[in-house]
Formats: sequence, C-alpha cells, structure tokens
Amino acid sequence: MENGVYPLSEGTYTIAGDHIFVPFDMETDNIRDRPASLLVEIQPFLVVTDTDKIIIDPGLGLSLADGRLHIYHLLERYGVQPEDITKVLLSHLHLDHAGGVVHQVIENGRWTWVPSFPKATYYWQETEWEYAFQKGNPSYPLERLEAMRAKATHHVLKGESRIDHYIEASICGGHTPSHQYFLIHTKKEKYFYGGDVVPQFSQMQRKFVAKYDFDGKRSAELRIMFTERAILENWTCMFFHDLRKPYCKVKMQEGMVMSVD
Ligand SMILES: [Zn+2]
Repeated sequence: MENGVYPLSEGTYTIAGDHIFVPFDMETDNIRDRPASLLVEIQPFLVVTDTDKIIIDPGLGLSLADGRLHIYHLLERYGVQPEDITKVLLSHLHLDHAGGVVHQVIENGRWTWVPSFPKATYYWQETEWEYAFQKGNPSYPLERLEAMRAKATHHVLKGESRIDHYIEASICGGHTPSHQYFLIHTKKEKYFYGGDVVPQFSQMQRKFVAKYDFDGKRSAELRIMFTERAILENWTCMFFHDLRKPYCKVKMQEGMVMSVD
C-alpha cells in the first residue's frame, strides 16, 4: 500500500450543548431542524509511512449491524487489518476522538473492553489525561480511557516529544489545555494533524473564536500560525471534522488561503 493519508469517516453528525452526537443524513435531514447545533464529520485518519501504519484519533468507535467496528470495515477497503496498525496517536481525549480506542467483546460470557488496535502503541499527553479525569463524562469516555490504559501498549507523553525521531507531538492548547498536534516528517511529505484546533479547512480561511474551545483566542492565534507554516513548508493538512475536504495542501492566492487540489 502506498504511503499517504487515508480518511476513515464514521459519518456526519450534529452536536449541540448536550454533547450528544446525533447522526445526520445529508440527503434527508435538515440542519434547520436542529437549532444551535454544529454539523461535523467524524473522521479518523490512517497515515501510512515506510515504517508505520498510524491511526490518528480513532473516533467515536461505533459498530455496524454485524457488531464489528465501523473503522474496521473502512480499513478493510484499503486491505488493512486492525493488527496491522502500529501506532495510535491521540490529539486529546474527547469522546468523538478517543471513543474508538477500545471496543467491547464477549470474553468468558462477559462484555469486556479490549484495545481496538491490539498490536499498536497508543500515545497521549499525561496532562490531557489528568484534565480528562477532572472533567469526566460526558465529554470524556472515562471507562474506555481506563480500559485503554490497563490493556493497550502505551507511551504517555510528557510535553513536546519526538516519536521514533520522525513524529513531532507538541502541546499547543487552545481546544483543551493540553491538546497536542502532530507533524509527521517523511522523506517526501510533511503530514500535519491539528485536531480540534484546526478541525475544518474553512477555519484556515477565516478568523473566528469558537465558543466550544477551552481558550478560543489561543486556538484562533494557533490557526493563523499553522496556516502560515502549512503554506511555507508544504504540509499536507488533515481535518477531522471537515464534511468536504478530509485533507489538502494549502496555498495563498490573491490574498486568500486556498486548498491545492
Ligand atoms: Zn474535542
């Protein structure tokens, strides 16, 4: 399989003040029927490099009617099995990003949580973990996080880190106090994942402060900085919540931030 970015969308949802993700059908549903709701894609990524198959933010962790995780079906389309995944990177631990870290199976007649990617090493920030357990449900899936810590191979990051020399993991804050971004340096490409600081491409195009952020002003400043670097350093940027553009490179054209298609 070729090196590159492979989006793994769990679908389109609305979310309102109650923090519940409600499936949204683009064909039949109308956003006007859901006042004060945000329309978002839930879109984990597979990034394939010379040495790794990386899942970035495994999403809600929904299962299809056959009981298997939706993300397994999506990976299968690319010929990838759950056991092939070598790393799971977590930008932060909100339910829509980290719900899929584990899933339930029946073991000895009882439902048990097991890691969704049994051979992967999971990476998260220690201070994000602490914040998650201060805040708790429903934003953070505590039971699943505890199961991940107990059963998955993991490496808890303490601030700015390099994973295997080529993956930069840095706390930027903004969305949550210890939200981190990833910059994956390969021979040919730089892959950027800004998580919920840059969840949609359009947020690189216009300035605004989001109410749902821990520090909206900080997120807004970060987006400007990331956009400048993305243009200058030719990053491939991934957008977890984007309905139309899962990933792209970015350029400046006639004073406007545009995608390179
Ligand atoms: Zn979030």
